[in-house]
Amino acid sequence: MTFFKTTKTLIFGTFLTIILVATALYWLYATAKTQLYNDVLSAHYKTLDYDINRLVENRREASMAIALTLSENKQVRDFICEHCTPETQSRLNFDALLDELALHTHHSGIWIQILDHQGISRYRSWTDKVGDSLVNARRDVQTMLQTPQITQSMSVGKFSLTFKAMVPLLDENQQLIGIVEVVSHIAPLTVRLKEAQGVDSVILVDKRYRKQLTKAYTGLFVNDYYVANANASKSEMSYLETVASQRFSKMEPVWVDDNKVITQHPIQDDSGLVLGYWFLFAPEKNLDLVEMQQLKSRYLYTALVIMLLSLMLMLLYIFKKRSDISSSYYRTILDSASEIIFVSNLERILEANQQFFEFYSKFNSIDEFLRYYDCVCDTFEKQEGYLQREMEGVFWLEYVLKHPDDLHKVVIKKDSQTYYFQVKVAQIQLYETPLYSVIMHDITSQELYKKQLEFLSQTDTLTGISNRLVFNQTLVQEVQRSHRYHSDLSLLIFDIDFFKNINDSYGHEVGDQVLITLSEEVGKLLRETDVFCRIGGEEFTIIMPETNLHDAEQTAERLRKAIEELPQSTLPTQLTVSFGVAAMTRWDNDKTLLKRADQALYRAKENGRNRVEIAIELDNQAHLNFNKPIN
Ligand code: GH3
Ligand code: MG
Ligand code: MG
Repeated sequence: MTFFKTTKTLIFGTFLTIILVATALYWLYATAKTQLYNDVLSAHYKTLDYDINRLVENRREASMAIALTLSENKQVRDFICEHCTPETQSRLNFDALLDELALHTHHSGIWIQILDHQGISRYRSWTDKVGDSLVNARRDVQTMLQTPQITQSMSVGKFSLTFKAMVPLLDENQQLIGIVEVVSHIAPLTVRLKEAQGVDSVILVDKRYRKQLTKAYTGLFVNDYYVANANASKSEMSYLETVASQRFSKMEPVWVDDNKVITQHPIQDDSGLVLGYWFLFAPEKNLDLVEMQQLKSRYLYTALVIMLLSLMLMLLYIFKKRSDISSSYYRTILDSASEIIFVSNLERILEANQQFFEFYSKFNSIDEFLRYYDCVCDTFEKQEGYLQREMEGVFWLEYVLKHPDDLHKVVIKKDSQTYYFQVKVAQIQLYETPLYSVIMHDITSQELYKKQLEFLSQTDTLTGISNRLVFNQTLVQEVQRSHRYHSDLSLLIFDIDFFKNINDSYGHEVGDQVLITLSEEVGKLLRETDVFCRIGGEEFTIIMPETNLHDAEQTAERLRKAIEELPQSTLPTQLTVSFGVAAMTRWDNDKTLLKRADQALYRAKENGRNRVEIAIELDNQAHLNFNKPIN
């Protein structure tokens, strides 16, 4: 429930984040776009402004160059020589000269005037009118006559807005003989600009010059602003008419209207006085908007990447949450198990459940455990029938896997207590190297019960020594072993003499006690390898591996004597026993060996009791008669 709740919140949160991020990005994009657009406009303005300035400068320099060239020209000098009169000079030669200048300087719209040393106009390239004095009409002519020097200026005259270059003509004595004046119109520059930048121009001369422009060259006006270029488009002039209500000087230098970028460049003379305004109309598509496109893609990609990342993070979180939940789910199951469960990769334990640490309570973590033990198997006791670190040359985990049908058990001693576990191993092939899950199920109580049952089934309840069942099994095993390894094996059988009398005289319970005492005393005198059994009421056997007939007889004799000499304090009366001793021959089997020993005992009884009789050796023929079972 919590998971689904958090997931819903998460999805909602993620989408909200995406929307917020998208909005923020859009806002940033819009701001950056406006900024960039303004930058593009500003760059556009600067380019055009630079071009205009360069063109104007070129024009001024060209005018001056032409004026200087003319001032050095012999034809010109000859033209205003003192002896010559205006009428004697051919105009044609001048026209040819001017045409050539226009051709080489790429400057059209150049007017030239030549004055003599009295300020009388001697030549005008735009009209035939000559002979008039300009001294009174023009202050700059007056100045030049007084102090002849090269001057250049930009100004508004009665015709238009022009550049003017004036160069004095001096003779060899530095006496002024005349003035060359080159007047250049600004209008041709608009053609150059159109060619270079594809922009339309409208050059407006400030309306303060309205009255002065008595011979306005183009005859075009926009609200009293003189249009200096005849090529100005009508629509652009009428557009300017609509905006001319504002003062041009207060207007932005660049703006966009009706898909046109309009820039306004003030035209100033050398003293900084604004003579007019140069308006440029460029199609908006001419703007360099590549960066804007790039900006758009950049923001779009960023937005996409952020959204994808958010989605991925969300999905990752959900998957992680899910896997956390499922792992805690399995963890809970594992921890609630009563078995010890752990996972190993053969080299070390990787995981263990709570029960593991409850059993190995000295340790709180796997690392702590591994600091102490290499392997869980280091805690296993070395006992036969139980798993060890290595089984048949294989690591115990693999051994268990290899023998899935067997019952595998381990013994672990902890705090002087013995625990038994049944072990199951499963292979988990999740990765390249397999993992092994091990389940150790506590079977201590079953095992102890089984051992108790085993003990009971093998033990004589009265005396605590092995019973007839053990005797039969051991005899069969030892006879087989003796045959296989040709080893010695002897069998002793003894019976209490006149035991019936003890029962009769002292009672059955005392008889029982005698049996117990006798067993204890005999047990003390035997070797560890001897198997001592009670096979009947007061009849006992001793299986003696690795013992020949001679030694067996001596042992029997020693025992007989020891019993005979048992102190009175332990027994109600003196006790004697009769022994039959048989040693294994190559012809014997378990039955014949027992039978021969029994017959020897019988003879001991016959021959007076409290004695040891040796069994008759069995030969090749005789053993056939022995094959009948004893009673
Ligand atoms: P012998 O062997 O010397 O010929 O004489 P015996 O008196 O020992 O002979 P027998 O085999 O006839 O008697 C054995 C007696 O042992 C009979 C039985 O009452 C007694 N007996 C057998 N089992 C037990 C037992 O568990 N407890 C007691 N108290 N007596 C037993
Ligand atoms: Mg008996
Ligand atoms: Mg007896």
